[in-house]
Amino acid sequence: MKLILLGPPGAGKGTQAESLAKRRGLIQLSTGDMLRAAVKAGTEIGRKAEAIMKSGGLVSDEIVIGIIADRISEPDCANGFILDGFPRTLKQAAALDELLDSKGTILDAVIELKVDDAALLSRIENRARETVAAGGTVRADDNAEALKTRLMAYYRETSPLIGYYFAQGKLKTIDGMAPISEVSRQIDALLGDA
Ligand code: ADP
Repeated sequence: MKLILLGPPGAGKGTQAESLAKRRGLIQLSTGDMLRAAVKAGTEIGRKAEAIMKSGGLVSDEIVIGIIADRISEPDCANGFILDGFPRTLKQAAALDELLDSKGTILDAVIELKVDDAALLSRIENRARETVAAGGTVRADDNAEALKTRLMAYYRETSPLIGYYFAQGKLKTIDGMAPISEVSRQIDALLGDA
């Protein structure tokens, strides 16, 4: 099964992608995680992405499309994957369609996690607080200033994908304000036994 999780920053895409991947034996592909790993490792991509990510802006289409094209061509992705954080622009969505088409496959569904804008800031502040409490390092972009930029990028660049996938008949919308386990239950219900 090939799925996309779509939604604004703080919607819970990462949380749901991780548990859904475990439940269904799928590979979770998070461009955010991959880029953070590249920054940490100090690779060329990491060096190009670091400042943009910190400010909350979008890394270039060329870079993320390249990362995803390489990754989904690996054998472990043949059984299926969940994209979390990709695509984020119409150009990325079109590139993904072409990529899947060239492999003779298609997306099964795009799951949109719908959340209340006002809740996003407090969710992200909570995440930062919990990370500190657990002794971890807060993400460089988990602060009010970068979140504003991330939200703008979402509404400007990513939200048009809702229409794009609706028109393809792929869009399924879930209430992302429900508790985590309820969101998971709703996702399972809409995917069925497939
Ligand atoms: P969130 O969903 O919480 O905003 P992510 O971990 O998905 O966070 O992404 C963090 C940052 O990584 C983004 O703000 C952006 O700078 C970069 N990024 C991740 N995926 C993409 C993408 N598909 N296109 C462009 N930039 C991306």
